[in-house]
Amino acid sequence: MAADSGNRDGAQTATDYDLVIVGGGMVGASLAIALAGRGLRLAMIEAHPPGADSQPSYDDRGIALAYGTQRIFEALQLWPAIAAVAEPIAEIHVSDRGHFGVTRLRAVDEGVPALGQVVTARELGHVLIERVLADDAIDVLAPARVVDFADDGDRVRVEIERNGVVDEIGCFLLAAADGGNSAIREQLDVPVTRWEYGQSAVVTNVTPTQPHANVAYERFTDTGPVALLPMTERRCAVVWTVRDDDVDDVLALDDDAFLAAFQRRFGHRLGRFRRVGRRSAYPLSLLRARESVRGRIAIIGNAAHTLHPIAGQGFNLGIRDVAALAEVVWDAFAAGDDIGAGDVLDRYERWRRTEQRNVALATDGLARLFSNPLAPLRVARNLGLLAMECLPAAKHPLARGAMGMLGRQPKLARGVPLD
Ligand SMILES: Cc1cc2nc3c(=O)[nH]c(=O)nc-3n(C[C@H](O)[C@H](O)[C@H](O)COP(=O)(O)OP(=O)(O)OC[C@H]3O[C@@H](n4cnc5c(N)ncnc54)[C@H](O)[C@@H]3O)c2cc1C
Repeated sequence: MAADSGNRDGAQTATDYDLVIVGGGMVGASLAIALAGRGLRLAMIEAHPPGADSQPSYDDRGIALAYGTQRIFEALQLWPAIAAVAEPIAEIHVSDRGHFGVTRLRAVDEGVPALGQVVTARELGHVLIERVLADDAIDVLAPARVVDFADDGDRVRVEIERNGVVDEIGCFLLAAADGGNSAIREQLDVPVTRWEYGQSAVVTNVTPTQPHANVAYERFTDTGPVALLPMTERRCAVVWTVRDDDVDDVLALDDDAFLAAFQRRFGHRLGRFRRVGRRSAYPLSLLRARESVRGRIAIIGNAAHTLHPIAGQGFNLGIRDVAALAEVVWDAFAAGDDIGAGDVLDRYERWRRTEQRNVALATDGLARLFSNPLAPLRVARNLGLLAMECLPAAKHPLARGAMGMLGRQPKLARGVPLD
């Protein structure tokens, strides 16, 4: 915990920081790591005890990290620890179950070692939180909750409650990485676009009789998309989209009945599914904040955009928020400027606005198109997949998008340090 310290004008205030990050999920922790050790006074506030098994951000869901995300973690020198628990994706196979359309994206065609890597949120969380805790430059205030905050123009005052005691800290910039139900976004009354899909993702892992050969499958079925991602130990991560009405029934199935039901849904491309892990379900919605900056507050990660997991883009988009925000903040700090000033945060918002909108729209479009059983749409999407397969030039932008490599790349995403 920081002792009394001076602000950038030299005035002394109690427990003052340059940057306070609310939320120690994947996005908040990554931002703390990106800016640590550069002279900024940093605090990360997290409601759960660090490393606790109960931390919902770091559960057993499989997360596909795009190649662009791998590059950011390489620049942050976290990649060796993540690679040790990750499985590469050499190919993405997209098909419409029971129909003719299929297209394949291959790492070799894109000249990259892998299109992405799959890791569980829990394992990624261990790597991130271990690094955060080992870094003296980051004050971890946890378990602690932000109960109130006020932006008075010059600073943001943040009230936090720890062990029943309320303290106040101050900062020049507050980053709200407090997830899809962000209380900070809500207190600011930031308008959002929100859509409930009426679907939930049932998540688990299965072990097929045939090796996955590092292929990730996206299969579109009449009740919604199914993703099967290659994991370590010959397992595959399952993201099975089911209608909300059916979730309880699916979760109530015993192992054998679940495997049989999932086999019917996915087919036999990988032989028979033998073992299955613990199941959990996530209600699916789209949420996009129409502003990601308000005064001295930046809203990042799921707090700014929560996506359908069909294309595995949620965290990948969030870490690019982190890379861009870290860059504008560091540029301002290194120049001796106020890191929470309007022009600094405007730069961030302008930079991220188009990509956030495009990825949210593309993901939403995919989720709707591929959940729709209407015959004309089914024919159209199969023709689309087929055309893509026959026109390699058309696949390239799709693959670059899936790898998170479209648009202006922040330094960290290019493997370049912040300075
Ligand atoms: C089934 C499923 C599969 C997915 N698959 C992929 C994938 O393959 N690839 C991909 O890129 N993304 C994927 N995602 C999306 C990804 O999981 C999220 O985008 C990512 O976890 C968001 O991280 P975050 O840090 O923004 O938010 P969160 O993980 O929600 O973290 C927010 C943190 O803030 C803390 N907090 C909240 N309020 C307060 C407060 N007042 N005070 C203190 N702390 C607070 C919470 O405790 C929490 O730790 C998937 C999501 C789901 C549901």
